[in-house]
Amino acid sequence: MTDCLFCKIAAGEIPSKKVYSDDKVYAFHDIAPKAPTHVLIIPRKHIGKLADVGEGDAAGIGEVVTRAAAIARELGLEHYRLVANNGEGAGQSVFHLHFHLLGGRPLAWPPG
Ligand code: 5GP
Ligand code: ZN
Repeated sequence: MTDCLFCKIAAGEIPSKKVYSDDKVYAFHDIAPKAPTHVLIIPRKHIGKLADVGEGDAAGIGEVVTRAAAIARELGLEHYRLVANNGEGAGQSVFHLHFHLLGGRPLAWPPG
């Protein structure tokens, strides 16, 4: 999608601190980290939000989540949270599906 912040970040049109990149997945540090480690993992395919994921996306989303676990391992995280905010009422502000990988501090549950 041409007018999407995270599509532009994944395409390298807007700079980001890259953590991982392949033809399906891009991961980068959040610009306003909510924990000592705060990485965003996204599919390169534009999907607005988790609720828009369809049957045909199962493999792609599987790759994103698998990569998130690998990144956590590579960053030395044992206790962490992987979360996707779906919709404004749940805190979503960028409408390109992304998973937050948060770690490096105690994470309260429930999150509030
Ligand atoms: P959401 O609120 O949609 O779940 O998460 C969006 C996240 O994107 C926020 O944590 C926010 O800090 C991050 N973010 C917004 N704009 C940018 C940006 O231009 N670059 C990076 N690296 N992160 C961003
Ligand atoms: Zn997008």
